[in-house]
Amino acid sequence: MKKQIPVTRSFMPPMEEYIQEIAPIWDSHWLTNMGIKHRELSDALCKLMRVEYVALLANGHMALETAFQALQLTGEVITTPFTFASTTQAIVRSGLTPVFCDISPDDFTMDPAKIEELITPRTSAIVPVHVYGNICNVDAIEKIAKKHGLKVIYDAAHAFGEEKDGINVGSFGDLSMFSFHATKVFHTIEGGAVICHDSQIFDRISALKNFGQCSPENVQEIGGNAKMNEFQAAMGLCNLRYLDEAIFSRKEVVEVYRRRFNGKDGISICREQSGVKSNYAYFPIVIDPGQFGMDRDQLQEKLQSRGIFTRKYFYPATNQFKCYQGMFELQPTPVAKELSEQVLVLPLYAGLTIGEAEKICDIILEKNK
Ligand SMILES: *Cc1c(COP(=O)(O)O)cnc(C)c1O
Repeated sequence: MKKQIPVTRSFMPPMEEYIQEIAPIWDSHWLTNMGIKHRELSDALCKLMRVEYVALLANGHMALETAFQALQLTGEVITTPFTFASTTQAIVRSGLTPVFCDISPDDFTMDPAKIEELITPRTSAIVPVHVYGNICNVDAIEKIAKKHGLKVIYDAAHAFGEEKDGINVGSFGDLSMFSFHATKVFHTIEGGAVICHDSQIFDRISALKNFGQCSPENVQEIGGNAKMNEFQAAMGLCNLRYLDEAIFSRKEVVEVYRRRFNGKDGISICREQSGVKSNYAYFPIVIDPGQFGMDRDQLQEKLQSRGIFTRKYFYPATNQFKCYQGMFELQPTPVAKELSEQVLVLPLYAGLTIGEAEKICDIILEKNK
């Protein structure tokens, strides 16, 4: 059988290096509960992102839920439906009501011009997503939040390592959440983080991820278990050494995609954001079926028949999920809806070769020759 190309593939550091990294864990018998590796990774991330506090958690989803709890959000939260299930599920699981704001057709992030009309006396926060690593209009969002006294929590799961005008993406908002899931640009197998800018919130998140314990005899809040363990942290320490290399490898593929799809009928791609140092996390293409001559689903099937796996990321938009029907009002978001029906995310990972990327483009563009 011919070699298949997956949509993503986890980065693996050299095995010897991981073994070296975990050797001290064997010696110490300290496997979890904020050991040495946990400390080393959070220190390294603080330095890399030039931020004061990085709380490490078991995964990105729990990082989101814990962030919401730490800020004591109530009532309604304005968010985007064009995201991975986790963002909206975290809001709902926290007992909050999601209010869906449509996205900008240019970069697919929350459209700031549509936020204010959704604010009510019950609104407590805005939860935007730097989707595909496209950085939200953080200035406009901050302005609105300040004006109305709202918290801002960014889902930055796609944006690790990025900067805007020299400022690390983790610096924006009250809190930012990162996912270090195996498929993300930087991973700790499973894992996540919340970037905080104040020690009180950091201490609160640290307690909440450990059953609400401030110390063994002092339990002040209702917390669960969302601690990152030492083996996860050790994987993160290894992968951090290869971050630049992994991003560069992705960049080379993205350059092929950009060159090949630029100006092609029926295919649109995101513009590069000015002033942004990208991490090249995802490469979405948007298929206009009328012009392209086939729809997104047909293109996905065609590629699959040639051994190339793509992903309808994100379809459906989260405000179309069955589990929310009848639970609360689901604001219509026509831009997000149409995009979710036309978008296809192409294979992109460190180690995907230029030749493979060219082959993927050849197949997609075949009929256009
Ligand atoms: C991956 C992801 C999450 C959840 O992170 P996990 O580490 O998988 O729990 C949340 N939001 C977005 C946008 C994601 O892509």
